[in-house]
Amino acid sequence: MPQRYVIGNWKMTGSKASAQQLAAALQRLIEQNPLQTRIAVCPPFPYLSSVATVLADSAIALGAQDVSVYSEGAYTGQVAASMLQDCGCRYVIVGHSERRTLCKESDEDVAQKAKMALAAGLIPIICVGESLAEREAEVTEQVISRQLQAVINTLEVAALTQIMLAYEPIWAIGTGLAATKEQAQAVHQHIRQQFVSIDKNIGANISILYGGSVKPANVLSLFSQPDIDGGLIGGAALDAHAFWQICQAAESM
Ligand code: PEP
Repeated sequence: MPQRYVIGNWKMTGSKASAQQLAAALQRLIEQNPLQTRIAVCPPFPYLSSVATVLADSAIALGAQDVSVYSEGAYTGQVAASMLQDCGCRYVIVGHSERRTLCKESDEDVAQKAKMALAAGLIPIICVGESLAEREAEVTEQVISRQLQAVINTLEVAALTQIMLAYEPIWAIGTGLAATKEQAQAVHQHIRQQFVSIDKNIGANISILYGGSVKPANVLSLFSQPDIDGGLIGGAALDAHAFWQICQAAESM
């Protein structure tokens, strides 16, 4: 059985004070109701250390929103996987569609980022997803397979047991228009099948999160799908109570 996860992507929002307050509010909620579901939050880089301090000894883990393809050196502005690890991160999001689109990250860049994360002992949360034009052109599965194939080509088979995936249809991110449970389940099943065809156990156990306008009102129907193992949450992760409700929904499945 795949492990369940709820991961909060705080994107480029807030201040140091608001990040600390949000982390503290979440920690209070989690302390009162411990969960089996693994929970992590991904603040902006400059706030990682202060959020790590708030979350020290808590059940909420820390993640980052991106990582460099390089390990160190003359790469001004970039952040190495080892640095994230040093700041207390356990996870790192790679290949979020905002980076693929705005920063022109290729499938190969994303795969290389996952490799660097693993080498530093981090768990990469590898995002894949299609645009609205791609969905309308009925090439969703081909796009997702191509994005995943770059990862499969880059990582050793054994390393595929260490990664997490997030299906995030671009048209659903931040729009309020989540995929229907049927749309999400169909893509999640397709993703799982791609890994089953490499190794049955890897496919059966890999955690595939859904992301894209998840909120307390739609979370139960999405998380009830057999191949949805939790969520990558943007907007709703900025509200401690909404995020907490999403975590409880994951736990109830
Ligand atoms: C995201 O940023 O990864 C995301 C899923 O955002 P939202 O939940 O706001 O759609």
